[in-house]
Amino acid sequence: MDTKNVLVIGAGLSGLTCSVKLAENGNNVRLFSPSPSERSQSVMAMGGINAALNNKGQDDSTSQHYTDTINGGQEINNHKAVKKLTDDAPEIIEWLDSIGTSFTRDENGNIDQRYFGGQKKQRTAYAGARTGKQVLTAINTMLRKYEHENLVKRYIGWRFLSLILNDMSECVGAVLINEFTEEIQSFEADCVVIATGGMNKVFGKISGSLQNDAGTTARLLQQEIQLANLEMIQFHPTTIKTPVKSMLITEAARGEGGRLYTIKDGEKWYFMEEWYPELGALMPRDVVSRSIYKVCNQLNLGINGENIVYLDVSFLPEETVKVKLDEVYEVCTQYLNLDPTVDPIPVYPGIHYFMGGILTDDAHKTSIKNLYAIGECSAQYHGANRLGGNSLLGAIHGGYIAAEEINRQTVTSSNNNEIIRKELEKQMEKYAQWKDNQTSEYTSSYTVEEELASIMNNAMGIYRDEETLREAMGQLEQLENEKIYSHESYYEYVLIKSLIHLSKAFLISAINRKESRGAHQRIEYPEKSDKYRKTTVIQEKNNEMIVSFNDTDEKMGW
Ligand SMILES: Cc1cc2nc3c(=O)[nH]c(=O)nc-3n(C[C@H](O)[C@H](O)[C@H](O)COP(=O)(O)OP(=O)(O)OC[C@H]3O[C@@H](n4cnc5c(N)ncnc54)[C@H](O)[C@@H]3O)c2cc1C
Repeated sequence: MDTKNVLVIGAGLSGLTCSVKLAENGNNVRLFSPSPSERSQSVMAMGGINAALNNKGQDDSTSQHYTDTINGGQEINNHKAVKKLTDDAPEIIEWLDSIGTSFTRDENGNIDQRYFGGQKKQRTAYAGARTGKQVLTAINTMLRKYEHENLVKRYIGWRFLSLILNDMSECVGAVLINEFTEEIQSFEADCVVIATGGMNKVFGKISGSLQNDAGTTARLLQQEIQLANLEMIQFHPTTIKTPVKSMLITEAARGEGGRLYTIKDGEKWYFMEEWYPELGALMPRDVVSRSIYKVCNQLNLGINGENIVYLDVSFLPEETVKVKLDEVYEVCTQYLNLDPTVDPIPVYPGIHYFMGGILTDDAHKTSIKNLYAIGECSAQYHGANRLGGNSLLGAIHGGYIAAEEINRQTVTSSNNNEIIRKELEKQMEKYAQWKDNQTSEYTSSYTVEEELASIMNNAMGIYRDEETLREAMGQLEQLENEKIYSHESYYEYVLIKSLIHLSKAFLISAINRKESRGAHQRIEYPEKSDKYRKTTVIQEKNNEMIVSFNDTDEKMGW
């Protein structure tokens, strides 16, 4: 097997897993991220990770996990990819356990599993209320071994600027910028793996990390790489607003028995249990979010007239709240000054996850040769709505699968020195132009960032309509013509320009899907349509964004 020289961009769970699996096979990895892995969004994951382990004799199976995932995603997931994901899930948990993840155990010493949304079986393994942190610590420790063996080299403080493509549009490396020193450097590679997480910054203060700036996906769009299902944005039903940002009350709170209610005619009304007796508050996230929206915005039954309903865990044993849900306890006491063992938690849906992103096939290959995408930045597993606990699984699985695929590849050596020199020169020229043109008469990039988030939040809510989407397009076009300055950072300047562009792709995707499915609800088209049981693909060609719809298992020809 050939040894490859691979760039992995992004050091959360997916990037770490891929790096470990590549290094295990003797490949050389350079791993880039703006900050250490311990600060990636993956450590924020609390609730758990799904696998049909059947540890409790709950009559679960990988095929049931598959069916739940496809149903949750409303059938526009890549079916082949989901099959692999759900079949491999038990082995992934076994691996995580073997490398030291401290999963919570049941009374028989088996890995405990809890209920999560959209799944009829207890399928979600967890490590206290800090699953992401525990899993990441275990994989990160593995990675250190390969760092010592010089198979992995970390670059902290670096952000992606552009891909280096040869004349045949094959990826031969990338250009990155050091955020602190503004050094711009090119890196040649046999393969590049993008693992940069969700497109959070487009929407501002959401539940995820703002480190995930969407800049890489935005640049890839400009370099004509195909993106998919951008309109599929998950609203988590139970977020809370704090002065700093939106924060999450994990689905585990409902998995452990937490109930949602509002007050109607002076009484507690458990609307989810009345509307959906089978799963109640544990319906898939899109359904719960729409139900809360209906209670507050259509029935005007939000608590005290506000857009809020209550999530109640106060009747659960105190130990469940303080130990199994310790992060919920911590968030409520620290940010809301509220004791959830006594009082209900005021919640409302908020943007949480991106089902869409860089289109890949089931081997995590993108539309460009030698370029892979894994984790939340990529689109294949979750369709129109992700099930809780499937994202950590998807991130780790993506890392496994991309590494396997890269291991199988044969290296074709060619001299790319000239192409690499030219791309670096191009980026350096842009930097020099920016330096020369700075003037504070222009609008600050921070102001534009806030405006952008406001436009996008307004247009891409739980319900969308063509008029608002088109109005937002007009606002983006105006924003695009703004003269923007960013004294502090060249990267911020490049970023905001590319984010406006990416935002247009979000809107165009939403305008073109003329139906309501999962996370995408169109007021004018309230029904699901068979015509759109497909993946929305958007690609830029000659400065034009072209939308098409692929069959979900389409042979993508790459
Ligand atoms: C509060 C919260 C709770 C969650 N709970 C769960 C849960 O219980 N179960 C579950 O399955 N999922 C959960 N999720 C979702 C899950 O955590 C993520 O989807 C998953 O961890 C993503 O992993 P990743 O490797 O794709 O990305 P991340 O962990 O987000 O890592 C992205 C990496 O890319 C780097 N990066 C970003 N932008 C750039 C750039 N421009 N250039 C270079 N590098 C860049 C980042 O610094 C980081 O290193 C939760 C999410 C949140 C926010």
